[in-house]
Amino acid sequence: MINEFRFIKNIQERVRQQDQSVTGIGDDCAVLSHGRLWCTDVMTEGSHFILEKADLGDLAYKSMMINISDIAAMGGYPEYALLTLGLTPQLGQRETDALIEGYRAACEEYGIDILGGDTVAAGHVFLSVSLLGSVFRHPVLRSGARSGDFIYVSGTLGDSGLGLSLVLEDCPYDLSNPEYFLERHYSPTPRVELMRYLADNARLHACIDISDGLGDDLIKLAQASGKGFFLEWDQLPLAVDEIGAVFGRDKEYFYRKALNGGEDFELILCTPEILDVQRIHDATGVRVTPIGRIRDEGYEICYHNVSQDPAAVIKKYQHFDQE
Ligand code: ADP
Ligand code: MG
Repeated sequence: MINEFRFIKNIQERVRQQDQSVTGIGDDCAVLSHGRLWCTDVMTEGSHFILEKADLGDLAYKSMMINISDIAAMGGYPEYALLTLGLTPQLGQRETDALIEGYRAACEEYGIDILGGDTVAAGHVFLSVSLLGSVFRHPVLRSGARSGDFIYVSGTLGDSGLGLSLVLEDCPYDLSNPEYFLERHYSPTPRVELMRYLADNARLHACIDISDGLGDDLIKLAQASGKGFFLEWDQLPLAVDEIGAVFGRDKEYFYRKALNGGEDFELILCTPEILDVQRIHDATGVRVTPIGRIRDEGYEICYHNVSQDPAAVIKKYQHFDQE
């Protein structure tokens, strides 16, 4: 198995960036002149979805949302898209109609124009979107966190991971609202409106969206900033109402999902200010929750005031170890 991080580093080292006026590899998006943001993300059959268990319209919609999330994470909004689609011969009219409907709905909701793309016959379905957007005010990088910053997270965590467990039928519990988790898995909400509000009402030092899991993505942000962090694991916001009564029986299962479950597409925000979370909620409908602080160095994770070994509790910690 290739190490994704080493591979990307190799590209960076061997194919030197010639235009030093743009911000290239290393963040959720590239930053071009005039505050233009540019990103791409792909979803492939087998790695990101099981075609037989999903609706192609949902997958198309999600492939747009995950790109919008990268634009939101940089403090911006989406404008133009290119679509590169790999389609298999088995797909019929009904599936391709659903696919187009997924993109139509996504584009209408977020004011995006599809300006081009490429369509190829492929052995497996893949949906690749390249998205261009613009910042509300300034680009918010992963690398800007400063010691003492408060770490906030938007929404609730672990929901998409629970949705995936329902799809894979490996969730050990009967959740009181399974539809909620499936919805969160197939239709994540990029936090564009939150970032629009925060651009005018808060000082943000750094941001990243959560695609690989809170723990994993918080380490990415800390590494990019050359900092450490303190995380209060039991403060992670969970969708307890939707989980239902089983929450009381095995809280740890749900906190583990919140720390390591991927694809929530919520935002980790670093700010020197104590945010007025009620006002933010009133203005945007999105809850933000303080979960820790940025430090000079070291990763400390506490669960009900008991210090945990980050390497033992963060699923993908090894990747970072090897760097
Ligand atoms: P995200 O999870 O936000 O999509 P990643 O952590 O996967 O971002 O990627 C880290 C950085 O590496 C990003 O800046 C991304 O643009 C870059 N990157 C990933 N794959 C490649 C590639 N094949 N070629 C060039 N850059 C890449
Ligand atoms: Mg991202």
